[in-house]
Amino acid sequence: MSTIKDFYDVVIIGAGVGGGAMANQLAGRGRSILMIERGPRLPREADNWSVDAVFHTKKYATKETWRDRDGKDFNPSTYYYVGGNSKFFGAATLRFRAEDFEDLIHEDGLAPAWPVSYAQFAPYYDIAERLMGTHGTAGMDPTEPPRSGPMPYPAIGHEPEIAIFDKKLREKGLRPFPLPIAIDYHQGGSCIRCRTCDGFACKLGAKGDAEVRLVNPALAKGDIDLITETFVHRILTDPSGKRVTGVEITHKGEKRTIAADLFISSAGAINSSALLLRSANGAHKNGIGNNTSDQLGRNYMAHNNTAMMAISPFRKNRVTFQKSLAINDYYLANSEKPYPLGNVQGLGKLQGGMLTANARWRPNG
Ligand code: SF4
Repeated sequence: MSTIKDFYDVVIIGAGVGGGAMANQLAGRGRSILMIERGPRLPREADNWSVDAVFHTKKYATKETWRDRDGKDFNPSTYYYVGGNSKFFGAATLRFRAEDFEDLIHEDGLAPAWPVSYAQFAPYYDIAERLMGTHGTAGMDPTEPPRSGPMPYPAIGHEPEIAIFDKKLREKGLRPFPLPIAIDYHQGGSCIRCRTCDGFACKLGAKGDAEVRLVNPALAKGDIDLITETFVHRILTDPSGKRVTGVEITHKGEKRTIAADLFISSAGAINSSALLLRSANGAHKNGIGNNTSDQLGRNYMAHNNTAMMAISPFRKNRVTFQKSLAINDYYLANSEKPYPLGNVQGLGKLQGGMLTANARWRPNG
């Protein structure tokens, strides 16, 4: 777009899953909306599916350096594009279980209940699955919470090796189920079921990422200006601190202020917190929304997971897309373990060079 107005009804900061979903639901209702994204559009190109470009030279990840809680520098696996980190996600679109919204005792202590219940959230999960294009089979996972109907598309199915794995798990008494996944893999869909999905961007636009499924359809409805490569410095409030009045941005090298009736900060857990912290003013000395708790930006946990791999000297793993199976038998406390352990699901396809990007001693292929 060429011109930005000085005032909008709604300003949405961030064009990832959160901002994209907001834009998608607000667009076409006669409100003027500005979406601000710090990154550009991600080009669709051969490097999207290159192990070397994605994992070794890290062509697409931010070059920013962050500091961990011990003050050590690290380069985060964070992506600044229209669609946000979902451009590179594995497309798994599981719902939280009803118990996750209630008081839940974990090994490290109590995870307090959310202020809303699963039942209140469920209709929005319905909408989200439709928007993202989730494929799956409802009713197979015993921990699955109640839902209003089937998933929008049938499960993508297992390749032969995963089907054998599924059978063996069942023989052991476990209850695997098709992992809900948002790729356009059904009759007439554009997904070719390739081996460069989880951790890569989709060169074909067939992954249910926020750009493809949320932002672009929102733009097609009208009423929205999207500006990219635009940094939001601060959120401004009136002197009382009770009303947000504007955002300070740098767009095309020019610093300016945009006013609106409503502001939505959907820049991700880290960057929304960072924005609110650097927006500190006379009424919000510790950052907006942080005066009483001082918890803003603290206690953040990244994608907390453990990967298990097995190497067979006898059999070649011929699977192309293995992220089709999940197990929730250990999701909640059970007779073997008194605390929840979470979800177990297939990793994306591992290829030569992916593991050695972060540790040279690991197997290369
Ligand atoms: S598996 Fe499908 S959605 Fe994923 S990258 Fe390949 S073509 Fe795209």
